[in-house]
Amino acid sequence: MKKILVTGGAGFLGSHLCERLLNDGNEVICLDNYFTGQKKNVIHLLDNPYFEMIRHDVTMPFFIEVDQIYNLACPASPIHYQYNPIKTIKTSVAGAINMLGLAKRINAKILQASTSEVYGDPQIHPQTESYWGHVNPIGSRACYDEGKRCAEALFVNYHKQNNVRIKIIRIFNTYGPRMHPNDGRVVSNFIMQALQGRNITIYGDGLQTRSFQYVDDLIEGMIRLMATGDDFIGPVNVGNPGEFTMLQLAEKIIEFTGSKSKIVFEPLPADDPMQRQPDITLAKAKLNWEPKIALNEGLIKTINFFKTIAQ
Ligand code: NAD
Ligand code: UDP
Repeated sequence: MKKILVTGGAGFLGSHLCERLLNDGNEVICLDNYFTGQKKNVIHLLDNPYFEMIRHDVTMPFFIEVDQIYNLACPASPIHYQYNPIKTIKTSVAGAINMLGLAKRINAKILQASTSEVYGDPQIHPQTESYWGHVNPIGSRACYDEGKRCAEALFVNYHKQNNVRIKIIRIFNTYGPRMHPNDGRVVSNFIMQALQGRNITIYGDGLQTRSFQYVDDLIEGMIRLMATGDDFIGPVNVGNPGEFTMLQLAEKIIEFTGSKSKIVFEPLPADDPMQRQPDITLAKAKLNWEPKIALNEGLIKTINFFKTIAQ
């Protein structure tokens, strides 16, 4: 049994990760400041004596004895991370420093939840880990993108300078049950709009693309990355290469919900990337991982979840 700290553990991805780690027979400490996470995401785990919740902000130092740290604390949807951009940068950067300092002190292995946003609005397609990205450092997404890029730099340098055992995963758009219904992300927005019979809001012409992975596939990739030997630190892309336009996504959601909602077009937010698709050659080779859940199947599971909260 390992003792594992999950920062951001009450969020969408963190709650699934806590659940999986407990099911695998570990002791899990879930740390969260509940900015975008919710206690109800992990309430079903509270009966488990090997699960603990701690209210804490990662921008402040934190001390605990654990074997592994998964660092997920950070708002992830554009409306949430742009709500207080300075705080988002502090969470990514000071949060990484505090968690890396902790990992160094207690000799824990630490995994950073990085993002495909480090590639910005990419000029190569699909994106490989060797691509350096195309990010506007003063744009509205910079607080998140540059925060995550700086966190990667911190991780790599704690590894080089202090031999901290690190892992960097670059997560591509992930969806599934327990996404926040008001987080403004495209999957949750479209499903809520469809279920409530409201207009489906496509930003821009809807021809921009994203590659959507179902949450269970991501969690499997995270666990496999953490289990790799100390010589493999990443970064490694984990995402589903299936690429769809936002129009295609809207049409699928209308079909699967049987909704009568109409599609409407609204202005495209600034610096919105035109396309995104992971090259997962490295994940296949190093993690023996590839996604198993196709978009149609994952959307149906996610719609079933949203039906329980969309009244
Ligand atoms: P989320 O907003 O549901 O979860 C983030 C969690 O971090 C929340 O529980 C929030 O309360 C907590 N948090 C935020 N700031 C904090 C702070 N200062 N101290 C402590 N806790 C704090 O988002 P998510 O989709 O679950 O994303 C989790 C991680 O994965 C994030 O780091 C995000 O950048 C990364 N990621 C997610 C996606 C995706 O598609 N969901 C894609 C790429 C990367
Ligand atoms: N989007 C949209 N309608 C919405 C919400 C988002 O058309 O109601 C678009 C958004 O402009 C972007 C894509 O969907 O092009 C994915 O947006 P999301 O915020 O989910 O993720 P990210 O842009 O960070 O990949």
